[in-house]
Amino acid sequence: MTDTTRRTEGLGQPLVVLKDVNKHFGDLHVLKDINLTVREGEVVVVIGPSGSGKSTLCRTINRLETFESGSITIKGVELPKEGKALAKLRADVGMVFQSFNLFHHKTILENVTMGPVKVRKMKPAEAKEHAMKLLTRVGVEHQANKYPAQLSGGQQQRVAIARSLAMNPTVMLFDEPTSALDPEMINEVLDVMTSLAHSGMTMIVVTHEMGFARKAADRVVFMSDGAIVEENTPEEFFTNPQSARAKDFLGKIL
Ligand code: ADP
Ligand code: MG
Repeated sequence: MTDTTRRTEGLGQPLVVLKDVNKHFGDLHVLKDINLTVREGEVVVVIGPSGSGKSTLCRTINRLETFESGSITIKGVELPKEGKALAKLRADVGMVFQSFNLFHHKTILENVTMGPVKVRKMKPAEAKEHAMKLLTRVGVEHQANKYPAQLSGGQQQRVAIARSLAMNPTVMLFDEPTSALDPEMINEVLDVMTSLAHSGMTMIVVTHEMGFARKAADRVVFMSDGAIVEENTPEEFFTNPQSARAKDFLGKIL
């Protein structure tokens, strides 16, 4: 039924490792003793009710948020707190948000070449060539000279994915990348993500798209109330959830 056996060669080394991570917003304990290891090439889908801490988890991994205790390492390196090392780390961790976050006064092509030229010091001609390949890969190469507002939501989100890929990230985080899209545009974005997953990209994906989880995820992590309540293969998780909270959640969305 599913093709979760797609990686017969097995998964690689631990790439993103969270150990006992705790975070508060004032009195709100928003991440509770989070332990999570994502291996090279692994696709982890994070699901859970609204307010359970999924976005905060992504933002914390990318250091858009601080945390009070525990540790996060990427490729064995502890997250730097600031400065150049942090900028470098951010460039290694691609992030795609619900709202596409493109630069509106820049063309599609400029959106994709900016990071590589500024942060990676790539030559403009080389960045352009690379960007055109990526825009072709996500199917928007004909829009390269347009501005974001001239594209549909699905096209803009595919550009956002290309823009992240242009930095050659070691891991990609997606935070509900299709939830702001009209229904007819969801699949074109999920298709790009599925093909990325099958290409071996390490991905952490917050989504309620169960079809994608079944097709592309190696593992589903279920969060509730700031904690990881259970994790399993998509097959096991969807057919045989263990906790009452997961059963209740699946009952509402499936
Ligand atoms: P999810 O993505 O699972 O819906 P979030 O990570 O966005 O959950 O939010 C988790 C909890 O943290 C929610 O109760 C939310 O209201 C709260 N929260 C999120 N961001 C902030 C913030 N910047 N300041 C205070 N509380 C926040
Ligand atoms: Mg969220």
